[in-house]
Amino acid sequence: MGGPRRSPGRRVPSGETQPPAVDAEAGFEPPSRTAAAAAPGDRRPAVAGSRAGRPLAEWPSRPRILITNDDGIESRGLLALKQALEPLGETVVLAPETNQSAVGHAKTMMRPLRVRERRLADGSLAWSVDGSPTDAVSLAFLGFFEGTFDLVASGINYGANLGDDITYSGTVSAAMEGTINDCPSVAVSQQYYQDPDFTLAGRAAAIVARHVLEHGLEHGELVNVNVPALPPGECGGFEVTRLGARIYQDELLRRVDPRGIPYYWIGGPPPTGLAVPGTDFHAVVNGRIAVTPIHLDLTGRRLLRRLRTWDWPSAADLARPGDGA
Ligand code: MN
Repeated sequence: MGGPRRSPGRRVPSGETQPPAVDAEAGFEPPSRTAAAAAPGDRRPAVAGSRAGRPLAEWPSRPRILITNDDGIESRGLLALKQALEPLGETVVLAPETNQSAVGHAKTMMRPLRVRERRLADGSLAWSVDGSPTDAVSLAFLGFFEGTFDLVASGINYGANLGDDITYSGTVSAAMEGTINDCPSVAVSQQYYQDPDFTLAGRAAAIVARHVLEHGLEHGELVNVNVPALPPGECGGFEVTRLGARIYQDELLRRVDPRGIPYYWIGGPPPTGLAVPGTDFHAVVNGRIAVTPIHLDLTGRRLLRRLRTWDWPSAADLARPGDGA
């Protein structure tokens, strides 16, 4: 396998830019289908090559890293992630315009997407999209930028994404979208604290990103990183973990708006979790950085075996009228 392919001089859009291939007004089709038809089909091999991973010194050119998040383009965590990964490669930032926390893997399909050129707080060029984290990653892989990416890095999120959180998390979903596009992907989140310092999380992100670039990931895999809210000197190091179980303490608040109409707000204190050794939750509450492998194959293996033992009607039974029981 050759090195990661990249096109010379990717297109750098300026100002209000037309998103390619995903404009819902141009006859509606799911973006992935549209792009698959439009793309010359030269992206997958390029990324598959990078998935294998190799020492950074052996890369023919610097890795190209897509930086995104779910907290929005103005998040300090996004800037911290970009600055942490700059020594590893060429970073390109495309992130949601507004805070998209807990939107999960939402993909915008019923309206067009607008992309704006932005400046981050360090003066560097970036782009924002008025959509979800998944939209941002989709745009990047469907041709908004020429060429492809060697790594997707999502974060640094304000607040941990542990255990069941990943089913809600826009941060993790952005990495999942990278994985679906066959690109090695990592999500980085930091346990919430007021006025966070991203020093430790930035170091953790760079270490994990380097590992992923050098070792590669298999198809369907991504890495979820959670960093405790601690200064680097107080952290207990890395722990490779499995997903833990969250305990949510959600409460339904019913209030009345100024016109006398009730509304509802899902609130409550932050979630806790089961502190079982070996889990991401246990690692983070004990001051360690949790590195959790995630696979997009959500098949329940044990349930698969059980389901096969249940009594399923034959095709002939199905064809007969009745309640199916
Ligand atoms: Mn968030």
